Amino acid sequence: MTDVKSIAKEMYPEDLLGYAEKLTEGELKVLKNLRNELEERVRPVLNESYEKALLPREEILTAFKNAQIMNHPDLFEGRDEKWRVREVYNAFLYLELARFDPSVATFYTVHGGLGYNTILIGGTEEQIEKYGSLVRDFEAQTCFGLTEPDHGSDIAGGLSTTAERKGDTWVLNGEKRWIGGAKTADFIPIFARDVEDKKIKCFLVKKDSPGLRVDNVQNKIALRIVNNGHIYLEDVEVEEADRLPNIHGYSKVAEIFTHTRTDVAHIAMGTAAGAFNAALALTTDREQFGRKLAGFQLVQEKLARMQANVVAAIGYSVRVAEIQESGTQDMLNSSLAKMHNSLVMRETVALAREVCGGNGITLETNVARFFTDAEAIYTYEGTHEINSMLVGREITGIGAFV
Ligand SMILES: Cc1cc2nc3c(=O)[nH]c(=O)nc-3n(C[C@H](O)[C@H](O)[C@H](O)COP(=O)(O)OP(=O)(O)OC[C@H]3O[C@@H](n4cnc5c(N)ncnc54)[C@H](O)[C@@H]3O)c2cc1C
Repeated sequence: MTDVKSIAKEMYPEDLLGYAEKLTEGELKVLKNLRNELEERVRPVLNESYEKALLPREEILTAFKNAQIMNHPDLFEGRDEKWRVREVYNAFLYLELARFDPSVATFYTVHGGLGYNTILIGGTEEQIEKYGSLVRDFEAQTCFGLTEPDHGSDIAGGLSTTAERKGDTWVLNGEKRWIGGAKTADFIPIFARDVEDKKIKCFLVKKDSPGLRVDNVQNKIALRIVNNGHIYLEDVEVEEADRLPNIHGYSKVAEIFTHTRTDVAHIAMGTAAGAFNAALALTTDREQFGRKLAGFQLVQEKLARMQANVVAAIGYSVRVAEIQESGTQDMLNSSLAKMHNSLVMRETVALAREVCGGNGITLETNVARFFTDAEAIYTYEGTHEINSMLVGREITGIGAFV
């Protein structure tokens, strides 16, 4: 067995078809370091953070930074590229994060996925150099401000936050909701409609800008560790230099989603894997009727079904990652992968909770976090229905949204 094969097999036993063998030794090393960092820094505070709905921001960011998950030199070996890691590594990065904890993966995706890609796709070379490197090196935290209180699924046409140009300054007014990580972000990409040409544009709103207020959405039952901001913008001023000029209209936002929706497919894959691993651990340990729970036929059928779901989800993720790497990714594949992986994730976390019995609803066995968090993943970055209609429109030629 080569080194890569044996390391991959040891790190991801749930990957029965061996997709992780597509990783390089350097990429596996970064993922291993990330695992150690998360175990050392975040594991000890994980359940308490969930219960108290607190974000252990410093612990998480330090783990990401120390493991150099976006900028380790090994990730760029042989690549004529300094901003983007390989997509297959990206898929396994999300597997690693989400199988540890879906909130941690979500906190990363709003920063290193949505926020980062908004800068890479929307920014000038100068802005990418300035803001992209801050994000990539974890010197600053960002997020993604699109959804509004009155516009979720219909945000494309409904976005109502306004931007008015006054000389070299833009004035923003409106509200945003559900914005992951907004409360602590150093700058927030805010999507707003230009009152002049009615096009959607994107502005980097700095923390502590006058007129900006961020409250956290309270009493959530899922992703309790991630703070979701309700943002109020009242005459918030942004310099023209902090507008991302390549975002002019919703088609550019859709381009960001084509790229990042696969990240959520990967998070769903990792969440399914995490729940499965936790259920396997409990059922091979706990005894009832004098034998291990995993020794009962009815339990094994569920374990096998979870295992099959995880393998299918990894397969979807890795293939779309490869297509993305080749530069031919489209919305159909992104939506298909997000829809599929979220469906199998939802079934898997429910089965995992079920085979753990009462222990499946406590935090100690780990299953409960995956079970509740899956509900948010099923909904964000295009709900199941919206993604299924995006797929439906492609395969039938008929738009069914309205
Ligand atoms: C935990 C969490 C984190 C999030 N993070 C962010 C973030 O960081 N940044 C950001 O911008 N947004 C974020 N979102 C917002 C997320 O993208 C929206 O929740 C999502 O787009 C759905 O919008 P909604 O919740 O308003 O649901 P609604 O649009 O009100 O939909 C409610 C239900 O109706 C269905 N529905 C809507 N329209 C149709 C239709 N035409 N046909 C059939 N069914 C339909 C939906 O599928 C859904 O089941 C987050 C959301 C959550 C829950």
